Amino acid sequence: MAKRRIGLQKNMAENLKNITVVGSGTMGNGIAHVFAQFGFQVVLNDIKPEFVERGLNTIAGNLDRQVKKGALTEQQKQETLGRIKTSTNLENAAQSADFVVEAATEDETIKKDIFRTLDRATKPNVILATNTSSISITGIAAITKRPQNVIGMHFMNPVPVMKLVEVIRGLATSNETFAAVKNLAEKLGKMPVEVNDYPGFVSNRVLLPMLNEAMYCVMEGVATPEAIDTVMKLGMNHPMGPLQLADFIGLDVCLSIMNVLHEGLGDSKYRPCPLLKKMVASGNLGRKTGKGFYNYSSKENTKT
Ligand code: NAD
Repeated sequence: MAKRRIGLQKNMAENLKNITVVGSGTMGNGIAHVFAQFGFQVVLNDIKPEFVERGLNTIAGNLDRQVKKGALTEQQKQETLGRIKTSTNLENAAQSADFVVEAATEDETIKKDIFRTLDRATKPNVILATNTSSISITGIAAITKRPQNVIGMHFMNPVPVMKLVEVIRGLATSNETFAAVKNLAEKLGKMPVEVNDYPGFVSNRVLLPMLNEAMYCVMEGVATPEAIDTVMKLGMNHPMGPLQLADFIGLDVCLSIMNVLHEGLGDSKYRPCPLLKKMVASGNLGRKTGKGFYNYSSKENTKT
C-alpha cells in the first residue's frame, strides 16, 4: 500500500509538463522564467496584453544577464523564451494546464475570483498553487471544490536567484499534492521547506517582526538606520541590514504583513511600528518611490 502511494505521488509530479502562471508581475515573471528554464511549457497570464509583454521583456532581460554571467548559453536563453506563451484569457490559459501557480496581486478578493475560475476551467485533479505571502491557503482552498489540491508555493524574490520555496499545507491539502509540489520545486533546483498554514507562514512571521523592531529602534532614537543596519550586517552576519531590506521589500508591503500577523495571531507583539505607519501614509515606501529609510535619489544610495 505504502509502495503504491509513493508511486502515485511520483507519477503526479512526473506528469506536470504544462504550467500556467497567473500574474506576470515581479513574482509571476520570475516563476515563469524558472519553469521555462527547467524545460516546462509555460503560459504566462495577466489581465492586459501590456502587462504580459512587460513580464516577458523582464524575463528576456534577466536571461540576458544569466548569459553574460556564463550561467546560460544564448541557445538556452532562446529555448527558454520559446517555451513561454502569453495569455490574457484565464479560462483558456487554465484549460491546458497540468499545474497552476497563481502570483497575482496580494488581494484576497482577486485571488478568490481567480481560484473560482481555475477550479471551473482546469482539468479535474490539477493542483492549484498560490504564491501568496500572507493570505490563508485554507481560506483560498475552501472556495474551490478541490481543497485537497490547493497549496501554497511561496517563492522568494528574485525567483531565479533565491533557493527557498516554502511549501504551505492548507488544512485540507493532501499528502499527494504536497509530495508533487515538493518534487516540482526540486526539479526547479529549489529547496522546498514544509510549512503549515498560519499567518505569515515561517518566512514573514520571523522576518517581519525583526524589521518592525528595527523601525522601533529608529523611532525611539536608539540609533540611526545606518547604525542599526551596520550592527546587523557586521554583528549578525546578515547580508543586508533590516531597514535596507524593508526599503527593498516596500514599506507598504511590510505594513500589510504586520497587519496580517497582528490580526491573525491576535498578539500585541506583532503591532506595526507607528513610524512604519507614518512613512506609508506619507507615500515614502522605500526603493520603489525613491525614499524610505534611505534616500535613493542619489547615485550612491541607489547602489545599496
Ligand atoms: P506585482 O504587483 O508585481 O504583480 C501582480 C500582477 O498580478 C500584476 O501584473 C497584475 O496585473 C496581475 N493581476 C492582478 N489581477 C489579476 C488577475 N485577475 N488575473 C491575472 N493577473 C492579475 O506583485 P508581486 O510582487 O509579483 O506579487 C505577486 C504575489 O506574490 C503576491 O501574492 C505577493 O504577496 C507574492 N509575493 C511577493 C513577493 C515579493 O517580494 N514581491 C515575494 C513572495 C511572494
